[in-house]
Amino acid sequence: MLQNRALTPAPTPIHAPGRAFLAIPGPSPVPDSVLRAMHRPAPDIYGGELLERTADVFARLKALAGCSGNLAGYIGNGHAVWEASTSNIFSPGDLALVPVSGHFGRSWAGIVRAMGVEVEEMQCGLAPCDPQALADRLARDTEGRIKAVLVTQIDTQSSVRNDIAALRGAIGNHPALLVVDAIASFGCEPMQMDDWGVDVMLAASQKGLMTPPGMAFLWFRDGIEQGSLVTPYWNWDSRSVAAEPWQYWGGTPPVQLVFALDEALRLIEEETPAGVYARHEALARAVWAAFDAWGQGTGIHMLIADPAARARSVTAAHLPGAARLRDWTRDRANLTLGVALAAERPEDGLRVAHMGHVSAHAMLGTLAVMEAGMRALDIPHGSGGTEAAIAEIARSLGA
Ligand SMILES: *Cc1c(COP(=O)(O)O)cnc(C)c1O
Repeated sequence: MLQNRALTPAPTPIHAPGRAFLAIPGPSPVPDSVLRAMHRPAPDIYGGELLERTADVFARLKALAGCSGNLAGYIGNGHAVWEASTSNIFSPGDLALVPVSGHFGRSWAGIVRAMGVEVEEMQCGLAPCDPQALADRLARDTEGRIKAVLVTQIDTQSSVRNDIAALRGAIGNHPALLVVDAIASFGCEPMQMDDWGVDVMLAASQKGLMTPPGMAFLWFRDGIEQGSLVTPYWNWDSRSVAAEPWQYWGGTPPVQLVFALDEALRLIEEETPAGVYARHEALARAVWAAFDAWGQGTGIHMLIADPAARARSVTAAHLPGAARLRDWTRDRANLTLGVALAAERPEDGLRVAHMGHVSAHAMLGTLAVMEAGMRALDIPHGSGGTEAAIAEIARSLGA
């Protein structure tokens, strides 16, 4: 017996008990208290507590967006509100201008086009939309054909960040609506719809809002004339002013998710939105510091060179051997990193999410495990990445 055991090869070491950590840009980690808030039977969906909760959650979502206008909720994901917004805004043959800074801008453009809207893509490369280029394009639109400019605040594939206020400034007096996909940034970065002049904004529950997938939202200002593509289910009017909980959702409400979001918003309010944004900023800078150090003399680099143009909720990087590293961190350390989307060599790219319910220890652990994996797999990398991240966290937290 003893002899047999000695002959058994040693198992592959796995340091993975405890909780798995998902560092992918959606769905993001769900706080325990949010999970617990869902653990309850459904109440009456025709009034009472659920009506109160829903109205309250909607009001707080508007406050967080700096929106004095309206909010419509949908049972769906980000793709649902791409379709919902298109349906409410456009008529067949309208022209939409879509600045494209990555895969998500391109996908959005594809959906709008498939719904019968003419789409012109403005290719921005791996960079934010240049406000001057937008102003120039709109100046050439002397017939006022461009109905709306559709832009991502963050393109989650490239991790480009657009300056929404600057783009509004570029639109100037042109009547085009400014429609912002904030799916990967809402709850992670500031959004001031009224102040910035955003006409329509999109977000979903499973990213900065720290709630399971299943709810998506459209904020829209008063006075937008609906297009003829609108259908009863997607119509934002019937959802934004409701007398009964089911009317908010065009049918059965996502009951437990409403309670989950109520708790997630409480967490954001407790930390304060400014605190949440500052935390995302600090964690992003820690991740960038690690990549900068790893990149010394190797092929590792972040896709977006200019820090001002980088998302605060996700970092996309070129990292030769990334696919092996992702397998290693997942199988050995219970850490899942994001895949490179739409990359020429997806095996050499990855994304690290720092989105939503993420702490300094979670992020330092993520970076340290990545560095351990690069060491174990002989992936060339500059030294001192984790130390650089530690220094960044120490600096931001202070004494
Ligand atoms: C995640 C994401 C989407 C798509 O959301 P799904 O919930 O996957 O449908 C759209 N736009 C952006 C910017 C995103 O980050």
